Amino acid sequence: MKIPLFRPAASAEPMAARLAQSFADVLRSGTYILGPQVQALEVRLSALLQGRETVAVGSGSEALLLAFKSLGIGSAGGGDALDEVLVPAYTFVACAEAVLAAGARPVFVDSAPDDFLPALADFRNARTPRTRAILAVGLFGDASGLPELVAWCRDEKLLLVEDVAQCLGAQAGDDAAAGHAGTWGDAAAMSFYPTKTLGAAGDAGALAFRNPLHAGKARLLRNHGYRDGRHHCLGHNSRMDELQACLLHAALDDFPVHLARRRAIAASYLAAWSDLPMRLPRDSAGHAWNYFVVQLPDTREREDFAAKLAASGIATRIYYEQPLHLHEALRPWHGDRGALPNSERLAGCSLSLPLYPMLSDEEIGYIIDAVRQAARAPGNQHPTTCQPPS
Ligand SMILES: *Cc1c(COP(=O)(O)O)cnc(C)c1O
Repeated sequence: MKIPLFRPAASAEPMAARLAQSFADVLRSGTYILGPQVQALEVRLSALLQGRETVAVGSGSEALLLAFKSLGIGSAGGGDALDEVLVPAYTFVACAEAVLAAGARPVFVDSAPDDFLPALADFRNARTPRTRAILAVGLFGDASGLPELVAWCRDEKLLLVEDVAQCLGAQAGDDAAAGHAGTWGDAAAMSFYPTKTLGAAGDAGALAFRNPLHAGKARLLRNHGYRDGRHHCLGHNSRMDELQACLLHAALDDFPVHLARRRAIAASYLAAWSDLPMRLPRDSAGHAWNYFVVQLPDTREREDFAAKLAASGIATRIYYEQPLHLHEALRPWHGDRGALPNSERLAGCSLSLPLYPMLSDEEIGYIIDAVRQAARAPGNQHPTTCQPPS
């Protein structure tokens, strides 16, 4: 059996057939960018996010940049060149790129000892008088830290930007008032990159804002500052096209079922692998399970484990090879702030396994068995402490 790390729902025959008509309609309409499909998509995303105004853009990376600029963070957005944004060290590089492109400075925050994400205490320790905002990333689908962060940002008068690229559909808060990821911060950046919980068949993204004035700013910025025949400011080309919007409408129809499927697969994995010598991801309430990332005892064992799965036809991938503060291009921004041991350890021992709605029950059973065999092979009976990479 061959199981890829990801198989898009749009690649399945029923979806292609479903979309044939609406794609043909878009092509015949002659309107290909920021047309009625995109407008209707913004309305649906807004409904998903408890009425927040949403703005469709070209990608998740651009959504992050436009979030900072719309909120006035950094010199490019009308803020200060010394504005600092607290960014998790263990996340996708776009998070730091966006802060820098907005003309602000990223301050990298270590992961908590027992989690992929920084805890409130870690953000607290990294805060300086220059801190304007924190970037809360719902890494791998986990948005459970948001309620605590919101309360702290309110007290400290900091702006909160949510990166919900991986956690759209997740919920945070443990009661009836549980709020969707994307509705906690001053702004939220979504990505519809094909592998995300809501995926397009190309690049696309969106923003959601607490304050409609900020949404208005983002609407100008995504299209060269243009509105009603005039360029009101300098901006970007970050427009969503009609074909992607069309596909995202179909993906939104399937979204609740696909989320439920992700959660069911994660529950099967967690139950089947609880006794293995590897650390499983935390099963937080409301998790959207975009990725299922396990931690092996060390880097060499991760290599062995991945090789055994590859021999069984199961693709895996390392998210992330390097924490941000160790990237060549980002190191100068970290300067002499020292090691961030937890994120460095995670980069050395984490491995992402296939988890997506298009996995069949048969494939899930095959993955469960293959992982059990690969993790339990002789010589692999270590405690689940994860050592730093050598
Ligand atoms: C995917 C991703 C992005 C960037 O989104 P694109 O649509 O690929 O530009 C940003 N942040 C995180 C955490 C992501 O996973």
